[in-house]
Amino acid sequence: MCDTPAPVTRFTQGGARVVQCVRCRLLYTDPPVSGRYYGAIRRQDWFVEARAAAASKMNVYLAHVRAIDRLNTGGARWRILDVGCGMGGFLSAAAAYGYDGYGIEASAEQAAWAQGLHLSVRHGDAVDAFHPLTFQVVTLWEVLEHIPRPKEMLTAVREVLEPGGYLVLGVPNGPHALWKAKVLRPFGGARGDVVGVGEHVVHYSAETIRMVLASTGYEVLSVRSGPVGVFDGALRHVKRAGMEALTALGHLVGTPLGASLLVVARRPGEASAADAEGPR
Ligand SMILES: [Zn+2]
Repeated sequence: MCDTPAPVTRFTQGGARVVQCVRCRLLYTDPPVSGRYYGAIRRQDWFVEARAAAASKMNVYLAHVRAIDRLNTGGARWRILDVGCGMGGFLSAAAAYGYDGYGIEASAEQAAWAQGLHLSVRHGDAVDAFHPLTFQVVTLWEVLEHIPRPKEMLTAVREVLEPGGYLVLGVPNGPHALWKAKVLRPFGGARGDVVGVGEHVVHYSAETIRMVLASTGYEVLSVRSGPVGVFDGALRHVKRAGMEALTALGHLVGTPLGASLLVVARRPGEASAADAEGPR
């Protein structure tokens, strides 16, 4: 992010390493993930799995909408743009709360699925796909960690936000994933890719997500951590209890320790009351 050479290796898995910049402390995958993730999302078997996952994540989407509802003290009918909207799960939850949802999605299959739900979704990766519409809220759910040039994307997002509008995003908590992988490794290792070196280009911490947002012209209002919210398998109750304990401990010590980071930032400027579409 700050182009300082000679990073320190923090974790290795297969041929990939997670390295950390000695200056800005950003954690990133080296060599960077190259198109494998986007190749994978075009596979049909992934799509079938994603359908089941999208349904089981509805509680997460509703929690995301409630986070936006807490910002919307006037109860206006805001326009929300969900960048990387997948199969439209979050947009469906937002519609249930009376928001006008719009989405863009890089996977053609997932975009088509969301369009089949009568959601305003366009296929592609252009953040300004709905030009000249602007938005009171832009959301990025588990998207930014896949983006090799996050500053370019965040700058483009700022352009489609109304002055005073909110950027609300969720990313995996990079230090949490590294810590978990290191703890699990002696016990036969983390099954699967705990750190996400196969998919994630950048592993954000609370500090580095603040840094990236501040450097692209946002005012960061809050960075909180929480459990991801979906736990499968026989140990799911134990895992959920463990995650909730860790998240609570994080609140006590003032450091986000949970598996995910929920970030609320704002495009500086005065919101215009006339921009919203009236009461919901
Ligand atoms: Zn750096």
